[in-house]
Amino acid sequence: PNLEYELLRRRIQANTKEFWYYVRSSLLDLQNKATPASETVDIIEQVLSLGAEHQRSLLYDIDQLAAADGYAEWRQKESNDLSNLVQVRFKLLQNPPDCNKAKKLVCSLNKGCGFGCQLHHAVYCFMLAYGTERTLILKSKGWRYHKGGWDEIYLPISDTCTTNKGGSMTSWPGHADTQVVNLPIIDSLSPRPPFLPLAIPEDLAPRLTRLHGDPAVWWVGQILKYLLRPREKTASMIQKAMNKLGYEKPIVGVHVRRTDKVGTEAAFHPLDEYMVEVEEYYNQLELKGPVIVRRIYLASDDPKVLSEAKTRYPQYEIICDPQISKTAAVSTRYSDTSLFGIIYDIHMLSLSDFLVCTFSSQVCRIAYEIMQIYHPDAASKFKSLDDIYYYGGQNEHHVVAVWTHEPKKTGDMQMRSGDLIGVAGNHWDGFSKGRNLRTNQIGLYPTFKVKDKIETAKFPTYSETVE
Ligand code: GDP
Repeated sequence: PNLEYELLRRRIQANTKEFWYYVRSSLLDLQNKATPASETVDIIEQVLSLGAEHQRSLLYDIDQLAAADGYAEWRQKESNDLSNLVQVRFKLLQNPPDCNKAKKLVCSLNKGCGFGCQLHHAVYCFMLAYGTERTLILKSKGWRYHKGGWDEIYLPISDTCTTNKGGSMTSWPGHADTQVVNLPIIDSLSPRPPFLPLAIPEDLAPRLTRLHGDPAVWWVGQILKYLLRPREKTASMIQKAMNKLGYEKPIVGVHVRRTDKVGTEAAFHPLDEYMVEVEEYYNQLELKGPVIVRRIYLASDDPKVLSEAKTRYPQYEIICDPQISKTAAVSTRYSDTSLFGIIYDIHMLSLSDFLVCTFSSQVCRIAYEIMQIYHPDAASKFKSLDDIYYYGGQNEHHVVAVWTHEPKKTGDMQMRSGDLIGVAGNHWDGFSKGRNLRTNQIGLYPTFKVKDKIETAKFPTYSETVE
């Protein structure tokens, strides 16, 4: 398929959703604010109901379009080829011919934060290692999630080069001839190299933008694919737990982040909000054929969410980590029990057909990133109740206006086609918030009037690995 076709197909899908967010939220506003006559209330109800059906039908057709265009095989093959290409490069980078002479980048897995946050720290280190052509040395002894270190859970990230020894050592950025460079956490990185998210390698960009709806997420997913190769013991623990649970498709992964996150870094969202999205997913799926069991995999750091879900949603088959009351406890968060719980939850969420969660949580973003490994393009297989996708410490995320916008209400942004906008977030009501780089105005703009700007950086091309 040509690039334009793939971009258009994805754009129509995204904007079908945006169109309905806009109409639905406007109608709900009307319903809540006014005191309309009873026939008006009836009409609103009818439009909400038929409108939802209308949207489902459109999304179904767009899905059918992708199924009928004959490119499914190409998408699968291209996805495999691209993944193989970067995985070979990763392996080469991590296994230099002579470790004593190799240039190294040292990263400590000691960031004082949760598992998702630490994985993102490791991915960031890997991106910079790849960008600077330095073998990544991951220091993980005494890791708060497993004192014995990373290598007891996952395969070592190198078979041949794991020591940080070298002739010269300095902190970031070092010089071209410095053998060992120590990397700080992303928050205190200076100077900032061009390799930071959401940038993708320039040499892969043409192929990736054609294949994938969110190339930056694909890129992170590929690094996680390399880093998270489980040791046999870890893999068999996961497999055993899965067999016990009866994990079957279709399944929607629901992650409800509560406890310490709520009120500090994220707002509280009642379970109902998640379940509305789950229901919508299954209503949509039923257009393709009967769904016998509506199943969800529920993950949370708050075990109360499970009992609430079981009581209030008996029509759903709800499966979750059987140890949830132990593994989710905040008091034992940084322990081996909790490590297995979170590894398991992230794995199950990533295997689901669709994710419903808050992207303010790194747990769900990790699951979403890993999900990309299993599909040629799973960029649209999620619903976040709060943030759009982002990577902690990323450079500003830009979109480009494709239509002009004249403000119609206070708070609206004026926009000319071609303007660059720094995105702050999507309000999921048809509007997003951002800053217009031309005018410096901060405001709301209709989300359908922009398109994503894919950032690229000149990473090394590892040309010696190309077929
Ligand atoms: P964030 O704080 O949600 O952005 O994500 P982090 O991963 O950085 O920190 C949250 C930590 O809380 C996780 O690493 C887990 O230890 C724990 N946690 C959060 N959600 C879940 C969950 O659904 N299941 C389990 N087992 N633990 C969770």
